[in-house]
Amino acid sequence: MGGSGAASVIVVGAGVFGLATGLALAEAGMKVRLVAATPPDLTASGVAAGMLAPAFEMALDPPATDALDLLLAGRDLWPDLAGRLGVSLDRTGAAAIGPETWLDGLEARLAALGLEGRPAERAEMEAISSGLGSRFPRALLTPEDWRIEPQAALQAMVRRLQDLGGTLETGTFTLQDLEDAASPVVLATGVDRRLEGRVPELAGLSPIKGQILWRPGPSPPVGVIRTPGSYLLGSGGGFLAGATMEAGRSDLAADLEAQVELRGALADTFPSLATEGWVTRVGVRAATPDGLPLAGASVRPGVFLAVGARRNGWLLAPLVAEIVTAAVTGEDGGRWAPRLDPSRFAPGAGEVQA
Ligand SMILES: Cc1cc2nc3c(=O)[nH]c(=O)nc-3n(C[C@H](O)[C@H](O)[C@H](O)COP(=O)(O)OP(=O)(O)OC[C@H]3O[C@@H](n4cnc5c(N)ncnc54)[C@H](O)[C@@H]3O)c2cc1C
Repeated sequence: MGGSGAASVIVVGAGVFGLATGLALAEAGMKVRLVAATPPDLTASGVAAGMLAPAFEMALDPPATDALDLLLAGRDLWPDLAGRLGVSLDRTGAAAIGPETWLDGLEARLAALGLEGRPAERAEMEAISSGLGSRFPRALLTPEDWRIEPQAALQAMVRRLQDLGGTLETGTFTLQDLEDAASPVVLATGVDRRLEGRVPELAGLSPIKGQILWRPGPSPPVGVIRTPGSYLLGSGGGFLAGATMEAGRSDLAADLEAQVELRGALADTFPSLATEGWVTRVGVRAATPDGLPLAGASVRPGVFLAVGARRNGWLLAPLVAEIVTAAVTGEDGGRWAPRLDPSRFAPGAGEVQA
């Protein structure tokens, strides 16, 4: 694959969209040159929690009211991708813990979506986090939500891309580079809008800053625990607690106010964790006006887009990679390609789809 006679493609960006798409293009036989200003571990993808969470995302913060099938389609591509990458996929499920009225509302929303959300047995709560069963009389469990470890998955994507003959370069891809490109260019540039002068669809992206906390700990949960206003999970030998949603902000500054807010959100359910000792990590998500990514051809010939993942970049990455690869290679992008077509936000596209 990607041999000397193979068609070339440039992918800009080393977050999960760029790497998953670069990998899919290499697997389709293309010679991939990936250029990124920020290495994978420092991207928004690198600081993310890695939840593949169609159920609780749809119930707590749906990207679009009818996005469930799309989110499920993204999730369902993960077992195959994780297998190809040789990384583990946590399918323990996710639990929700909180006041009765909040849990009742969540249960009703999952039921209305046709998703499984049922009271967790004590043993199941213990499987997610030791001590949970004895501390909380009730939890809502969904087997629909899974998780991937972002740093491990990004590293595995880099390795596999290189194994398939792809190259990775550190650098900024400029408007001049775009003018000069002799191969198709896939922009997986996250929230960065530097190239919007030539790629008008990028103008619709807006930033949502996210701050997430990590601290070491002896017995972090093995599954995801959602609480009102926060989530807690085990990652890198410690606890990860997230995350703020700061619309309109694109700076990477960690601030104490956000940390206090997140620790406060944890305090009701995990008072012993609402103490000092947390490190703040920051990433910026890119959001489109309809909450769904742009995946496919730009109105600018030779340019393809894989951007605008909002909160669900990890969940949707394999699906976006598949759609963009089909667009580059001239194949049919499948059921979701029209919905994610970047032309819906091109100038003159008319009314924006909801
Ligand atoms: C705190 C937090 C928690 C999250 N948790 C989850 C979660 O649990 N599950 C989930 O599905 N999603 C989650 N997300 C969302 C997810 O992380 C993002 O949707 C996803 O990371 C977006 O990936 P991306 O590849 O589009 O962009 P990014 O990861 O931001 O990568 C963009 C890349 O493009 C490069 N780039 C940009 N412009 C240029 C240029 N001109 N030249 C060269 N390189 C350029 C950057 O350097 C970088 O390498 C979370 C996000 C945050 C911030």
